Amino acid sequence: MKYKSCEFLRHAIMFWTNEIDYCCHSGIRFFEFYKIKKPYNGEALDWDELMLERKIKLQNMKEGTPSIFCENCQYYEERDWDDWEPYINFIIISHWTHCNSNCIYCTLDKKPKIKPYNFMPILKDMKDKNILRFDGRLSFGGGEPTLLKEFDKIMNFFYDNNIANVQINSSGIKFSKIIEKYISLENTRLTISPDSSDANTYRNIKRVNKFNDVWKNIKKYAKAQKDNKFGVSTKYILLPFDSGFYPNAYKEQIKNWLILSKESMVNSVIMDIESHWYAYNKNKIDKNHPIIELYEYFEQEAKKLDLHVEYFAVGELIKPLLNQ
Ligand code: SF4
Ligand code: SF4
Repeated sequence: MKYKSCEFLRHAIMFWTNEIDYCCHSGIRFFEFYKIKKPYNGEALDWDELMLERKIKLQNMKEGTPSIFCENCQYYEERDWDDWEPYINFIIISHWTHCNSNCIYCTLDKKPKIKPYNFMPILKDMKDKNILRFDGRLSFGGGEPTLLKEFDKIMNFFYDNNIANVQINSSGIKFSKIIEKYISLENTRLTISPDSSDANTYRNIKRVNKFNDVWKNIKKYAKAQKDNKFGVSTKYILLPFDSGFYPNAYKEQIKNWLILSKESMVNSVIMDIESHWYAYNKNKIDKNHPIIELYEYFEQEAKKLDLHVEYFAVGELIKPLLNQ
């Protein structure tokens, strides 16, 4: 039956350090996420109650009265939806903040170090209660997943249950054997964002001195991806700050990053924009904005190197303005 609904509200859940949410897609518009529960610190969840709340929210959506977070959201869409069933098949794990990078645009409060709650009991509970299905996606936010104590256990749990898709976002600073083990599987994607093509720019943006380590690890992962052609992607978060202190919004940087990616045996590249800058400037961005020229340049150069192009979150919002 055709009506307006959203895949995230139907079957997704996001675990953060102190809350759980339906999604993160209201962040750019409202600077907060669509909450399920706050505070939350790993306590047992009443899934019957949570699913009932979801059902009511979905019914409101269907009747054209969605939450304010969902109005004008790109994922609130009209299509033929199957009858809703109470299960989760898209889980985003992002309940820790420690990281071995210190990106200039990171919004995570890494000090004081927040101790992550234990995650395996939550997963086991979800599985035991038939709430968790494995035909969807596991995604790691973070913090840096390879520093997470339970990372290997969580990965093995999902792969042992034949999870359909896995997305891992990593700084790339620490090489992970468990990622290396699974990266050749077609359902696995690893994204690393060097955001730069030289050590100085990297240090200015990341505020750690790990440029060479990261590219060495990207190459090792790319080698391990074997036939999983788009297993490893490098990402470039454009920082078009007016002050020019963190200069990566330049053609030369972009071109050299693409060349480095190609030389590191990466086949897929992703362009994005720093989300806070975007939130404050989105109304000023039209097809003549300098950002659009950089995007088009990125596409052109990636094509020359036979690199597969993708866009993430904000990058995707920019896409309709390209090549007009
Ligand atoms: S419509 Fe948008 S804000 Fe609402 S639940 Fe879906 S993704 Fe989140
Ligand atoms: S890699 Fe991610 S979590 Fe770590 S500092 Fe950068 S943005 Fe923050």
